[in-house]
Amino acid sequence: MLGDAQFILGPQVKELEQEIAKYLNIKHCIGVASGTDALILSLRALAIKTKGEEYFSPEDEIITTPFTFTATGGAILRAGATPVFVDIDPGTYSIRPDKIHQAISPRTIGIIPVHLYGQSCSMDTILDLAKDHKLFIVEDVAQAFGARYKGELLGNIGDAGAFSFFPSKNLGGFGDGGMISTNDDEIANLVQVLRKHGGKDKYNVEHIGYNSRLDTLQAAVLLVKLKHVNRLNELRRKVAAFYGQHLQDHPGLSLPTEIDGGHHVFHQYTLRIAAGKRDGYQNELQKRGIASAVYYPVPLHQMKVFNGKSRVFHPLIEAEKACQEVLSLPIEPLLTEEELQHVVKTVRDIHAKELGK
Ligand SMILES: *Cc1c(COP(=O)(O)O)cnc(C)c1O
Repeated sequence: MLGDAQFILGPQVKELEQEIAKYLNIKHCIGVASGTDALILSLRALAIKTKGEEYFSPEDEIITTPFTFTATGGAILRAGATPVFVDIDPGTYSIRPDKIHQAISPRTIGIIPVHLYGQSCSMDTILDLAKDHKLFIVEDVAQAFGARYKGELLGNIGDAGAFSFFPSKNLGGFGDGGMISTNDDEIANLVQVLRKHGGKDKYNVEHIGYNSRLDTLQAAVLLVKLKHVNRLNELRRKVAAFYGQHLQDHPGLSLPTEIDGGHHVFHQYTLRIAAGKRDGYQNELQKRGIASAVYYPVPLHQMKVFNGKSRVFHPLIEAEKACQEVLSLPIEPLLTEEELQHVVKTVRDIHAKELGK
């Protein structure tokens, strides 16, 4: 398969780009070194395209959620702009479009909706806002490969989409990798230039570039895994349905919901456990051999890195509350019925002990 020894941007990278473009029904896909780089390079391309500058400036505001992985906000800083954090919906954990609307200022240039846990944001309203206020949209699709909104695959709705192939993602490689999707020829060209040191000719460059290429070995792995991604996403949905069926009607325990017109691919299956009981729950699960996780324990606006470099659209109560209350259960698509029964039984036992009094 790799007999041609072309380890850097070899034929598998091009093939994967074409296959994913076909999958998403989009014009361009460009492989890069990580999901983080996919966000940064998209934003840098937009700065060059819209402002004719290498970077945005701190006066340029990009609205996003504080309840996401650090990389979302970090990419905004690294592209030179200021992140503006607005609150989330307590049921879906996604950014609230009405809060985006309120937070828009004359300095706002774009929005990064994060399709958290494998579920789409309310893209209709976000698209309307972007159109009305002439803002760009970069979708953070790191957790939502194969998820849809009103039939449309995510990553094909905004001006660009940023995917991650980190091993734990729904389409994951054996190491780091990422991809940018776009229908915009200029963004695609700029990203292609930026990922290769900033020039069409790397010995005579025009932009401040990166060495951010998708590894050929990862592309080869991902080409094989892409064939299975829909089936594995369906299995994740089945696991979620099983949990839903067996964990409903427990007061104090909220289950994930699916939005109207959404097709959730359950990168995470995330519970909300009220009344300060979350950490106790997690300890109990661990004692009984079940690995759960908290995504995310700290909202971005409370991290030192964003201190003085972001704008907070107060209040961010729901994001802060979610950090205290969320807990994600195992959602690997190949969990057996027996393993799932064990998780469900354990959660119910703990619930009876912790909350059922
Ligand atoms: C994983 C992730 C990223 C970053 O992707 P990497 O490939 O790890 O760099 C960005 N945003 C979100 C929401 C993620 O979950």
